[in-house]
Amino acid sequence: MHFHVLTLFPEMITDGFSTSITGRSLENGSVTLNAVNIRDYTINKHKKVDDYPYGGGAGMLMQAQPVYDAYKAVVQTIDQRKGQKSTPRVIYLTPQGTVFKQSMAKELAREEDLIFLCGHYEGIDERVLEEIVTDYISIGDYVLTGGELPALVLMDAISRMVPGVLGNSDSGESESHSNYLLEYPQYSRPEIWNGKSVPPVLLSGDHAKVEEWRLEKSIERTAKMRPDLYEKWASENEEYFIRKAKREERKRKNELRKLKKAQKAQKAEDEGKS
Ligand code: SAH
Repeated sequence: MHFHVLTLFPEMITDGFSTSITGRSLENGSVTLNAVNIRDYTINKHKKVDDYPYGGGAGMLMQAQPVYDAYKAVVQTIDQRKGQKSTPRVIYLTPQGTVFKQSMAKELAREEDLIFLCGHYEGIDERVLEEIVTDYISIGDYVLTGGELPALVLMDAISRMVPGVLGNSDSGESESHSNYLLEYPQYSRPEIWNGKSVPPVLLSGDHAKVEEWRLEKSIERTAKMRPDLYEKWASENEEYFIRKAKREERKRKNELRKLKKAQKAQKAEDEGKS
């Protein structure tokens, strides 16, 4: 995966990405990161990249020319690497875009190159957006000062889906948002901390029981924290509830049988005595 970021603050991108797991992905080569300073491409002799918006209004707007030339330069490096013309996806981070979610991270992780465009100030001249942007993505319904943090958010989530980035290849699959369910609670050593014990089933060594418990907890937690996700999961997993109801019915019948047996034995004993 090759990430290219068009930004006025490249150090924010490289500093943010170079730590911990994402940093390791750069070192082991599963991901590359090319943070391009849009200011380097301005033809303005004072290196200006912004100007007042036509029609008036608050703040400054990033101009089309530097953004477009920075984009062209990036596409050229990609073409050179591939030895052919390419049309990489260009993601403009904007509070007006589709709100980012896990399924989008998964889908974007299949691309070979991704170009992120970070706005600043009041945003970017519409004409260059029309010219180059393929995807408009927001990280949530609030407004930030720039697209750098959102670009880092996307790159972090996407890189976790790239083979070789996470140590354990299936930890991406059982996690929150991989299937509508939030992840179950987890515990590590010691067995008792602050007077609280780890749930005994996790120490039982019974893999099937552990799985069953985790699914149950995931469902409980999702229903409580994110009823919207729970509804979606429940509507696609009716058979889970049918299975569960059958299991409970069996348990109830078994208990009833045991009770009746005990009553019978008691009765026999009482009759024997009298
Ligand atoms: N005037 C714009 C907001 C500009 S905020 C508007 O009302 O739509 C400045 C820049 O920050 C944007 O160009 C965008 O790149 C980035 N940004 C701000 N909030 C964001 C969000 N929620 N998601 C993604 N990018 C965001």
